Formats: sequence, structure tokens, C-alpha cells
Amino acid sequence: MLNGSKQWITSGAYAGVLIVWARTGESGSRGISAFIVEGGTPGLKVGKHEDKLGLRASNTVALTFENCGIPQENLLAAEGDGFKLAMSALDGGRIGIASQGCGVASAALEASLSYSKERTAFGARIAEFQAIRWFLANIATDLSAARALTLRAASRKERGQPFTKEASMAKLFASEMAYRACDRAVQIHGGYGYIDEFPVERYLRDARVQTLYEGTSEIQRLVIAREVLKEAATF
Ligand SMILES: Cc1cc2nc3c(=O)[nH]c(=O)nc-3n(C[C@H](O)[C@H](O)[C@H](O)COP(=O)(O)OP(=O)(O)OC[C@H]3O[C@@H](n4cnc5c(N)ncnc54)[C@H](O)[C@@H]3O)c2cc1C
Repeated sequence: MLNGSKQWITSGAYAGVLIVWARTGESGSRGISAFIVEGGTPGLKVGKHEDKLGLRASNTVALTFENCGIPQENLLAAEGDGFKLAMSALDGGRIGIASQGCGVASAALEASLSYSKERTAFGARIAEFQAIRWFLANIATDLSAARALTLRAASRKERGQPFTKEASMAKLFASEMAYRACDRAVQIHGGYGYIDEFPVERYLRDARVQTLYEGTSEIQRLVIAREVLKEAATF
């Protein structure tokens, strides 16, 4: 029988199949197992849809499990292997969030380039002003660095090499870069950046969550520090 609850489940109201981690044994990471649970299983309850700052088209709910009977064959991997499975899923997921960061920053840059070439103030296109050019240069440079980190992590994963540190570095840098880029894009748009006639206010709201989910920036720093300290110990 599965009992408990989990907050913040993306698409939780619609999922036909869920992977659920639950404690099945001793305290600590070795007592956790992963299960496949079908949507609609008796005892599985979907909470209210969260009203979020951004990603408003995405469903986020809490799920509660009350005496959910899960067949033995729905155990994923061996009993007690759930934590290992979760960590490896998170490493891969972090490359996904880094890619999201690159995507939204790229859209913010595109919108900013087009607006700055079109908008005139004090008799000149705003793209002529040095302040605006610096914003554009910084967004473009940051974005290139985030893409390189993201591709490096993805390439290591693809080649079967360890990629925990690289995924955390990509996620940390790209998510913080994305928020910075969207904030600068709003600045470039002036007052129009603050209303929904242009897409950059939505980009800013959507980007904000990226330093939170799939592990906060603080947790990425913990992972990176642990990995670099481990590497240093080999010298
Ligand atoms: C829109 C959205 C969708 C989500 N989708 C999913 C989903 O589909 N599935 C899922 O499982 N989860 C999902 N999450 C949950 C998300 O992964 C967590 O919210 C996130 O990992 C942070 O955990 P928390 O909210 O418990 O924050 P907390 O852990 O309470 O953190 C609060 C603050 O304390 C800091 N902190 C915590 N521990 C430490 C530490 N050891 N050292 C330093 N600082 C620390 C954090 O960095 C943060 O600043 C989603 C969240 C959101 C907002």
C-alpha cells in the first residue's frame, strides 16, 4: 500500500502513468524504491491547480496517495534502488532545464534585437545607443556560454561519460543567465517591456522558475562543489 503526498507535480492532473518514489525500508537513501503508478489508481487524489507566476499553461498540482494498492511487478529496478534512479533522472533533467534557459534567453534576445532596431527615441534607433548595445552584447555572450555548457553536458551523457557536475554547471549557469537576459530584455523594451503587448514580460515570468525546479541554484552549487572537491582529492 502506498501512502503519502507530493507537492509540485508538473502535469500531475493529466498523467496516465506516474513514477513515484516511496520509502520501503531503512531510513536514509537505501530505503527508497521507485514504482510505476497508473493514473486513476484508487486512492490517488489530485490537488488544486497552483496559480503560478509563470509557466501558466503548465499544470502543477499536489498528489496524495491513500492506501493505493500497487502490484509487485510495478516496482522499478530493485527494491532500495530508487534513490540512485532519482539522482540519475535528475542529472538528465538538469540538461533539459539548461536547454529551457537557452531557449527563453534566445527568444528574449531575438525580441530585443528586433525592438531595438525598430524603436526610435531622441531621434535615433535605440540600437544606436551604447547602453542598449551593451545589453545586447551581454545577453548574446551569456547565451553562447550557456549553450556551450549545455552541449558539453549533453555530449558527455550521450557518450556514456559521467556528467553530474557538467549537468549542474549547465543548469546553474543557464537558468541564472536566462533570468538576467529576460530582465535586460524588459529594460530594452522600456515601458512596453512591462505589458503583454510584447512577449518579454512573459519570458521573464517563465524564466524565473528555472533557478528553482530540478534542484535550486543553491543545490547545484552544492553538487558542483562536492564534485570538484572529489576531483581535487585525486591529486
Ligand atoms: C512550477 C514547478 C513545477 C515543479 N514540477 C515538479 C515535478 O514535476 N516533480 C517534482 O518532483 N518536483 C517539481 N517541482 C518541485 C521543485 O523541484 C522544488 O520546488 C525545488 O526542488 C525546490 O524545493 P523546495 O520547494 O522544497 O524548496 P526548499 O528545499 O524548501 O528550499 C527553500 C530555499 O532553501 C534553500 N536550500 C534548501 N536546502 C539547502 C541546502 N542544503 N543548502 C543551501 N540552501 C538550501 C533552497 O535553495 C531555497 O532557496 C516543481 C516546482 C515548481 C515551482
